[in-house]
Amino acid sequence: MYGLNQAQVRERLKVFGKNEIKRIKKINPLKIFIEQFTSPVVLILIGAAIVLWSLSFFEASNLIDIILILGVVLFSGIFGFIQDYKAERSIEALKKFSTPTTIVIRENKKIEIKSTEIVPEDLIVLEGGNIVPADAEIIEGKLEINEAILTGESRAIKKSKGDKIFSGCSILIGEAIAKVTATGMRTKIGKLAMKMQKIKEEKTPFQKQMEKFSRKISLYIIALLIIIFFIGFFKFGPITSFLFAVSLAIAAIPEGLTAVITLALSLGAKDMVKKKALIRRLGITESIGSVNVICSDKTGTITEGKMKVRKFYFDQEIDAENIENELALNCIYFCNNAEKVFKDNEEVFIGDETDIALKEFSQDNVKKIGIKINEVPFTSKRKMMSVIYKIEKEKFVFSKGATEILIEKCNRYLKNGKVEKLTFKDKVEILNKNKELAKRGMRVLGLAYKKYLRSKAYENNLIWIGLVALADPPRKGVKDAIKECKQAGIRVIMITGDHPDTAMSIAKEIGIESKRVCLGKEIEKMSEIELKRTLNECNVFARVDPMHKLRILDVLQKQGNIVAMTGDGVNDALALKKADVGVAMGIKGTEVAKQASDIILLDDNFATIKTAIKEGRRIFNNIKKFVNYLFSCNLAEVFVVVASLFLILKKPILLPIQILWINLLTDGMPAIALGIDPATKDVMKKKPRKKGESIIDSSLKKIIISVGIIMSFTLLFVFLATLHLGEVVARSTLFTGFILYEFSRIINIRFNEKMSLFANKWVLVALIISLLLQFIIIYSPISFYFGVTAIGIYEWFILII
Ligand code: ATP
Repeated sequence: MYGLNQAQVRERLKVFGKNEIKRIKKINPLKIFIEQFTSPVVLILIGAAIVLWSLSFFEASNLIDIILILGVVLFSGIFGFIQDYKAERSIEALKKFSTPTTIVIRENKKIEIKSTEIVPEDLIVLEGGNIVPADAEIIEGKLEINEAILTGESRAIKKSKGDKIFSGCSILIGEAIAKVTATGMRTKIGKLAMKMQKIKEEKTPFQKQMEKFSRKISLYIIALLIIIFFIGFFKFGPITSFLFAVSLAIAAIPEGLTAVITLALSLGAKDMVKKKALIRRLGITESIGSVNVICSDKTGTITEGKMKVRKFYFDQEIDAENIENELALNCIYFCNNAEKVFKDNEEVFIGDETDIALKEFSQDNVKKIGIKINEVPFTSKRKMMSVIYKIEKEKFVFSKGATEILIEKCNRYLKNGKVEKLTFKDKVEILNKNKELAKRGMRVLGLAYKKYLRSKAYENNLIWIGLVALADPPRKGVKDAIKECKQAGIRVIMITGDHPDTAMSIAKEIGIESKRVCLGKEIEKMSEIELKRTLNECNVFARVDPMHKLRILDVLQKQGNIVAMTGDGVNDALALKKADVGVAMGIKGTEVAKQASDIILLDDNFATIKTAIKEGRRIFNNIKKFVNYLFSCNLAEVFVVVASLFLILKKPILLPIQILWINLLTDGMPAIALGIDPATKDVMKKKPRKKGESIIDSSLKKIIISVGIIMSFTLLFVFLATLHLGEVVARSTLFTGFILYEFSRIINIRFNEKMSLFANKWVLVALIISLLLQFIIIYSPISFYFGVTAIGIYEWFILII
């Protein structure tokens, strides 16, 4: 098959554009900006300005208040805009990291390209695990497809030559070449997306929880404000008390909370991708931080996955370099799905790492050319594969797979080049040898063949050839990562399809302790209680298939664990979806697995899961710090104001403009800077958070309330201690006191975490700028507009005390 040529591709790209579903909801800076002015708080402010404006026909002095209120609205609008825009941008940027690739045939060559570059009439090569990248028609081969994304009905549909397949559907099994009929928005899913208008990012339980909380607090505050308004009405007159209530509303309602959280989450996600963990849903960051069990695959995640053929065993063990057995070489070469394709103009092997290693090893020694007639594919359930090849007029079946499975399909074996009957004793000997090689940490496969004689039964009466053993050492850094996980109270369980002895040997090497290995077939016979018991003593599971994984996951979750589970195959999709954090492999993972996951490891490395957990914990801590700071300070503001209603004053204890300023300064830069604080040193030394534990747990509630009360008493003391100098001086001292104490609250919160002021330069910069601004206000002519005056040494003395 020849496929399109360069010129044709270019021309089609020009006419049809890229093969992508356009986001209807593109980031629109203007829209984000306008959205800033639609929040209830801003509407209250604007409403207040209008009320004042209509009143100012009677009273000229209100003009300054109006200007200042609108100034605050604009300033906080710009501020909110920067936050939201930054958050949206980083979410958008993350999407770029997960563009899938497809193999196409162009100019008679198989090349791997980005799926967005597919054009109509391209020939695409598909196999199990792919997501169909464009609408197409099969011209060769067979597939089983799940079209749930279009029909909502999840079942395998058989497709063969002439059948249409649709973009976005998962390919469960099979191999085919198809001709593209439509790309991008012209595909069925593209049209559907157009109809649905926008694909909205679902809010996470965590975000919803925070929003609900904000709303509840806001309602309480508004109720309180109505009371304050009425008391103030009699004390200060309608206009002042109206303005006062409005300003207090702004100070106390945590309107910025969700924006700051989204920003912290999205900046965190951006940091994580630098560390090779791609977050697919923002809110998952919170669950990642609370993971207490990681169930990880072995091959390629814990081990390097770059395998090397090391040993063969026929009648005796031989080093791979000395192999002369033509049949064995043919078997590993032909019974193999690794393929050479062009990627960025270079020829590379793609496919399963085992297959790649075997093909690379055998390619120079196999001189014969064969034609593949049929294949019984590998699945993690079958743990073997077979092909039928025609080599020089003769047809052969070649099989390779897990020794204990393959050997059961053999009745003869090769002894010194002659075919002999395979006795029970021979089998035991082979299995023992298999065990011995596996104990050395190697991945061992059995090889078998037979001449093919037209019967449908490919995989029986095979002739045993021998064993091949591949080295697949643990990755560097995994041992340390596992140690760190242990210190952080995270349990690591290895779940692998490989041989129990290989699994145990690798587990030992990297420090996963397990009383014994549990096998997949044991799990099948176990009741839930038995599996629970087994899980108390086993951290290594071998010869497992995806259904077993699902059962392990189920029991772990029922015990209240928060489980991160890795997966790469089509059949792992269910487990990835069910896990609290589904982790897919970026390199060797199938597209189906990636789509079912919450995080993609761009480097397939186990250590990256640990890094992601650490990041998740850091982000959660920062949000918690922010909530702690915000609520304790807001509470103090409300307390002080309520208490002041019992004092006899000419004007409110804080003027509206002062409240607005305090809010702007303290909720602004320093608070946001908190969101990017580094991780504390002991972040991976603490136990994980409990499942379902709210960000504002009971201990945080106590802290917020007690700090709020202490702060307000201190501030009232400051006010009363300076009141003999006049209301204006006392008010100015209190005003400055608020800012100072709120900032010292930040320093204090971080001090409790043993974090120095220099750990995050942004916090320092934000504090210094904010303090400077405060000085300008009290010590420059602007002070007049803020109703304050310069404060002297005595006042500072009181403040510092
Ligand atoms: P993990 O689950 O840790 O990634 P794994 O890659 O060994 O481990 P599977 O892919 O399910 O898990 O493989 C299970 C077994 O099937 C292997 O131990 C091997 O014996 C056999 N096997 C793996 N790949 C192939 C292959 N390409 N062809 C034939 N047999 C294979």
